Amino acid sequence: MLKFHVQYICEVQRVAKSFSFSMDQWGQWLWQRSLWIAVLASVYLVSVHGAAHAHHAMGGQTPKNFWEGFLSGLAHPVVGIDHLAFVIAVGLLAAVLRQGFWVPLAFVGTAVLGTGIHLQSWNLPAPEAFISASVLVFGGLLALKQQPHLGLTTGLAGLAGLFHGYAYGEAIIGAEMTPLLAYLVGFSLIQLGIAAFAYRCGQALQNAPSAQPDLPLRFAGFAIAGMGLAFLSAVVLG
Ligand SMILES: [Zn+2]
Repeated sequence: MLKFHVQYICEVQRVAKSFSFSMDQWGQWLWQRSLWIAVLASVYLVSVHGAAHAHHAMGGQTPKNFWEGFLSGLAHPVVGIDHLAFVIAVGLLAAVLRQGFWVPLAFVGTAVLGTGIHLQSWNLPAPEAFISASVLVFGGLLALKQQPHLGLTTGLAGLAGLFHGYAYGEAIIGAEMTPLLAYLVGFSLIQLGIAAFAYRCGQALQNAPSAQPDLPLRFAGFAIAGMGLAFLSAVVLG
C-alpha cells in the first residue's frame, strides 16, 4: 500500500519535471512541501480512514436539537477530510476560472439535494468511491496547465455535490425537522466559508509576484489529487 503511494509520488515528480517550466524559488519551496503533504496525508488516510465513513461530530448520535444539528453540520465537512479536500479544491478552482464562483455554488447547492436524496431513502451507488474520485478529479483539474472548461467543471462539481451531500445525510437520518434544517444550514455555511477562504488564498497566490504565478495552485492540485488517490485506494482495497 505504502509502496504504491511512494510510486505515485515519484510518478507525479517525474511528470512535473517533464513540464517545460523553470521553477523559481517559491515554486520549489511549495513543491517540496506539497509532496510532503501528499505523503503524510496518504499515510494518515490509509491508517485512519478505513472502510467506515464515520464523520459524525456527535459520536454517532442523531442530533436532537437546533445546536446539535448545526454543530454537526459545521463539523462534518471539516472532520471528513475527503469532503474538506474537495471543498478546498473547488474554492481554488473558482480563483483560477473566470466566473469560477459558479463551481463552489453548484457544489454547495447540490450537496443539500444529495442529503435530500438520502433522506428520501433513494440510493446513490458507491458514494464513497464517487467522493474519493471527485477529490482525485478536481485535484487533477487544478493541476492542469490549461484552465478547465467552466461549464464542465461546474457540472462535475454539481454531480460531486450530490454524492458528498448523500454522505452528509447519513448522520442526520431519523432527526426531527429543526435539527435537520440546522444541519443543512451548518454544512452549507461551512462549505461556503472554506471555499471562500480557499478562493481568496488562490487569488492571493495568483497575484503574488512570481515568474510562474499559476504554479502554486497547480502544485496544490497535485497534492489534492494525491489525497484523492489515497482515498480511492482505501475504498477499493478497503
Ligand atoms: Zn462524510
